[in-house]
Amino acid sequence: MRIATFTSEGHRKVGLVSADGKTVAPLQLTQAQADSGVLTLIESLAEGGSLPEAAAPAVNLDDVVLDAPLPKPRRNLWCVGRNYHAHAKELAASVFKDNAAKTDEWPIVFTKVPECVVGPHDDVLVPSEVSTQIDYEAELAVVIGKGGKNIMRSAAMSHVFGYTVVNDVTARDVQMRHGQWDLGKSFDTFCPMGPWIVTADEFDGTKTRVRCWVNGELRQDGPTENMIFDIPMLIETVSRGITLYPGDVIATGTPAGVGMGMSPPRYLRAGDVVRVEIDRLGAIENKFV
Ligand code: MG
Repeated sequence: MRIATFTSEGHRKVGLVSADGKTVAPLQLTQAQADSGVLTLIESLAEGGSLPEAAAPAVNLDDVVLDAPLPKPRRNLWCVGRNYHAHAKELAASVFKDNAAKTDEWPIVFTKVPECVVGPHDDVLVPSEVSTQIDYEAELAVVIGKGGKNIMRSAAMSHVFGYTVVNDVTARDVQMRHGQWDLGKSFDTFCPMGPWIVTADEFDGTKTRVRCWVNGELRQDGPTENMIFDIPMLIETVSRGITLYPGDVIATGTPAGVGMGMSPPRYLRAGDVVRVEIDRLGAIENKFV
């Protein structure tokens, strides 16, 4: 299933996207449930519930506004740094210079606040008063279904509800100067997400391709097979001593090709359009303003 959160006729709804990707059929949910996007559904299915009935005939996707599938995640998004070999290499002298050695065994994990999530076609606000080094990071995000603590990597995939696309937008100057990365990663609108969640039964996150274009120019193109720490390892790591809940998001890191890694670096400016696409999952495209 591809499950989308969208706004139509002034109300937020959650629905199933048709196989041809042209229509979306809203599900029978209360307005409060729909307002939290796919989260209520994930929680209910994780507890053994069944999919609600369709509430109304399908509508054309062109006639609705897609929202982030999780418009406001229940808590901070877990994010992984330095998780593609080529990306680690391109930034070895900058953001990863202090932890290159110790991250051979353990992934870097930081978080983004849930309030920075925006929809797949929403504008991203360039905070020009506080940063001059805005960068993109195309990423595959895992959405947790059944929660758990101390999840072994051998069982990890049974805890995956599905996958979505995120752009882990980053203010490099702010990221670098504070030791920890959360500030430079959490500015308002810094996590475009969407266009929907593809459920785990229909998508193999271990064998896909993450690409990013800036103004039509291909900048990132990485197969997820090249991850340093694979998805089961990431779930095992994040759940060590910490209970994961249905709807938790783990952004799995970005491939090589970020603006900071170029010589000279090429940062984003107002007017730029960034498109992130993951094969067989979908694409998000956001204007920076
Ligand atoms: Mg990232």
